[in-house]
Amino acid sequence: MNEIAVTSNQVDKPRSFDVEKVRADFPALHQEVNGHPLVYLDNAATTQKPNAVIDALVDYYRGYNSNVHRGAHYLSDKATAAFEEARRTVSAFIHSLAAEQIIWTRGTTEAINLIAATWGRQNIQAGDVILVSTLEHHSDIVPWQMLALEKQAKVVPLPLTTSGEIDLNAFTDLLDSRVKLISLNHVSNALGTVNPVKEICALAKQYDITVVVDGAQAVAHFPVDVQDLGCDFYAFSGHKLYGPTGIGVLWGRRELLDAMPPYHFGGEMIERVSFSGTTFNQLPYKFEAGTPDIAGAIGLAAAIVYLTSLDRKAIVQHEHELLAYAIEKAKNIDGLVRVGTAEHAAGIFSFVVDGTHPADIGMLLDQQGVAVRTGHHCAQPLMESLGLPGTVRASFSMYNTKADVDSFFNALQKVLQLLR
Ligand code: PMP
Repeated sequence: MNEIAVTSNQVDKPRSFDVEKVRADFPALHQEVNGHPLVYLDNAATTQKPNAVIDALVDYYRGYNSNVHRGAHYLSDKATAAFEEARRTVSAFIHSLAAEQIIWTRGTTEAINLIAATWGRQNIQAGDVILVSTLEHHSDIVPWQMLALEKQAKVVPLPLTTSGEIDLNAFTDLLDSRVKLISLNHVSNALGTVNPVKEICALAKQYDITVVVDGAQAVAHFPVDVQDLGCDFYAFSGHKLYGPTGIGVLWGRRELLDAMPPYHFGGEMIERVSFSGTTFNQLPYKFEAGTPDIAGAIGLAAAIVYLTSLDRKAIVQHEHELLAYAIEKAKNIDGLVRVGTAEHAAGIFSFVVDGTHPADIGMLLDQQGVAVRTGHHCAQPLMESLGLPGTVRASFSMYNTKADVDSFFNALQKVLQLLR
């Protein structure tokens, strides 16, 4: 296969951010739910999609649906070109050195499973330690537990401070030559904590420890530069980044990806197959057995082009203001306790209210058109460590407004009157 050069198709022109204009680009936001205008605050579960993404999917299926890399015809060439351009778009988006380091997966979950099943099986041995933060989503715990069981290694949780941040002193104390891997999220989906990934990578390097970063909750909120972070692997999902479901990304350092065995076997990932033996393709195809999610990759690239056409600094500021506004408003609600008070937090307001159950709050908010998530947020070990069955989570995105926050708290006041 030819080298894939990295180019950025993100046009260098002045960018701006106008929340009302952005909202107009997201058709699903403009509807009534249970007789009320929708207030969508479940963005950490999945974001809504802009017209640019919906159109890219429709254009592909209407106009040039075809399989990639193997057709000797016009439509296949067109689909292949768009599919590989999408890889270059992702590569530039996270500042990868080369597009070959971008592996398409179904999402963050599959990306982490891929690392565990390939790099993990090759490198983790009996007695080794895998550190994961207590903040992790199940998808960044269970694959390591399974690997540890297989290899007789050990998964050790990184403790948190009372504000829901990784306790860096405890972390430093845990570092020794037995630790082979650290896996942690860039932003916690349950509390919104932004983890000091760069600092953790620098410490890990002193002990030659490999670092996996789960960026599922980060990439939509602020620019990510994998080289600057100094991590070894970075994973994220398209659907939390205004893109389609079913597509995600694994980025890895080239020397690690080159040395790893394939994950799945079949078409596309081979160089030559014969009954006397099979050789494997180069990066990135070595990890992409079978027909990929072509439309998903093209849709994800459309989402990235859309997002990067906006002023991202202004988006960070806007989301920060929404969170600060929610924190202020919450002070007027008796018995509300915010869960996770990290100094650096992105887009998530998690809370409990004395004498009520999160599931009841969520259900009654929905009756007023407010969509939030309740429960353990696929972070049961975190909830256990907090001594909570779960929380109510309102998660903000760039298209939310202070009016959304107002509607949410007005609805919450009504819900609490009913429940108390
Ligand atoms: N990690 C984090 C921090 C998440 O928030 C999620 C999704 N909630 C995942 C991993 C899993 O992502 P996916 O389901 O898209 O694979």
